[in-house]
Amino acid sequence: MDQSGTLLTGSPSGDTAAELKATFKGDLLGPDDADYDQARSVWNQMIDKRPALIARCTDSSDVVQAVRFARKHGMLVSVRGGGHNIAGNAVCDSGLMIDLSPMKLILVNPDRRTARAGAGVLWSELDRETQRYGLATTGGTVSHTGIAGLTLGGGLGWLMGKHGLACDNLLSVDIVTADGQLQTASETENPDLFWAIRGGGGNYGIVTSFEYRLHPVGPTILGGMVLHPQSEAREVLRFYREFARNQPDELMVFCGLLNTPDGMPVIALIAGWFGPLSEGEAHLKPLRAFGTPIADLIGEIPYLQHQSMFDEATKPGLHRYWKSGNLPEIDDTVIDTVVGEAARMTTPYGFVLFFHIKGQATRVPAGKMAFGLRQDQWDFDIVAQWIDPAEAPTHIDWVRGFWKRIEPHTSGVYVNHLDSEESGRRVKTAYGPNYQHLSILKKKYDPDNFFCMNNNIQ
Ligand SMILES: Cc1cc2nc3c(=O)[nH]c(=O)nc-3n(C[C@H](O)[C@H](O)[C@H](O)COP(=O)(O)OP(=O)(O)OC[C@H]3O[C@@H](n4cnc5c(N)ncnc54)[C@H](O)[C@@H]3O)c2cc1C
Repeated sequence: MDQSGTLLTGSPSGDTAAELKATFKGDLLGPDDADYDQARSVWNQMIDKRPALIARCTDSSDVVQAVRFARKHGMLVSVRGGGHNIAGNAVCDSGLMIDLSPMKLILVNPDRRTARAGAGVLWSELDRETQRYGLATTGGTVSHTGIAGLTLGGGLGWLMGKHGLACDNLLSVDIVTADGQLQTASETENPDLFWAIRGGGGNYGIVTSFEYRLHPVGPTILGGMVLHPQSEAREVLRFYREFARNQPDELMVFCGLLNTPDGMPVIALIAGWFGPLSEGEAHLKPLRAFGTPIADLIGEIPYLQHQSMFDEATKPGLHRYWKSGNLPEIDDTVIDTVVGEAARMTTPYGFVLFFHIKGQATRVPAGKMAFGLRQDQWDFDIVAQWIDPAEAPTHIDWVRGFWKRIEPHTSGVYVNHLDSEESGRRVKTAYGPNYQHLSILKKKYDPDNFFCMNNNIQ
């Protein structure tokens, strides 16, 4: 049985794997293959699962073959896009890992302002291609994240105030459903499936390509961060909560408590202005003038540089543990808790982040698509990262203690930020008002819960 009670009987012998090889174009990797360990490794080094077989798909037909093969042999299936999921759902023990990372095709249509991208594309790759035409869509804030998992869970990013979430900019997908059929879903084709995958994650099938709406962005924008000493964090957070809520859609401001590379604890106001460059200075002036910053790193920078600003701080290869929830308000109790707990951070690589969800991302009606948590609010993340596996208990204790004090102030959670310990109640909360409808569509498209390695809809 898997975690949700689905019956899984099979695991492939060498002979059965040879059966898939006959029709499959990509690489098939088993535990004895040289690339196996690298292929099963994901962003969070805490994850150490061993699939019986890894199917590295080159196109939609490989995905169809892999799904049919797994069905026939009753195998547990996991799906890997960019491999960033904190819970490690991209990998499974003893089953078939359907690895989409070789699927890198990107086609930009500058006249229609659309882009089609394969399911293995990372945000750095899509941004690079769309920026050739001065275009972009809302993407993640770390450029080594996969477009697939991020978009299917919603997709928070710097452009969400102006252009909505990543899923709001999705025009159509090609998707292999649990019956092994390749289908298209859009507002006009299989519209209920299209509704479900925009926020419902990997519950309904394997998306093989995504078509996005693009917007003129860059090539340069006004952005960066202003750093204050963490001893000033109370005042900075009080300023931040007012400032962030009173800005136009074009100005996004996040806030983080972290350590600089040389070990100084700071609080960072991290901003991006996505309107006309000439108007940005005036909007950013109060933020830059507040208090006595130790550094003001805001300036005109390439959009691509802004999109990769957090890459180094979150580079793959570290052990990770995090907790996340949505904060409707940053009240004084929250501020006191955050300031006190951040000061006790046990690892120099850890951070705490307020990710403001605002503007266009909040104006889409909650029932328009599966992603339904449309309030103006903060996605709040407590993240521990470390190198030595032996340190795990110390850092996990810090996050758990912190979370215990913050959780009562949260309401809901972003589905893509759920960790592996979450039970049914919180998963349900993440789908908010749309859970029941998602559940009906799960029954229609995946009645056997074939796609169960995800934030599962029962
Ligand atoms: C460093 C870091 C930064 C992040 N920043 C942001 C951010 O700015 N904004 C944001 O919204 N989120 C962010 N996230 C969360 C991110 O959205 C999730 O981790 C997401 O799952 C990443 O997608 P992936 O394809 O890389 O993940 P994977 O681990 O490959 O996939 C995660 C899950 O998505 C499903 N899935 C993946 N591909 C497909 C597919 N093609 N078809 C069907 N199902 C699929 C599967 O269920 C899979 O288990 C961040 C995560 C990390 C680790």
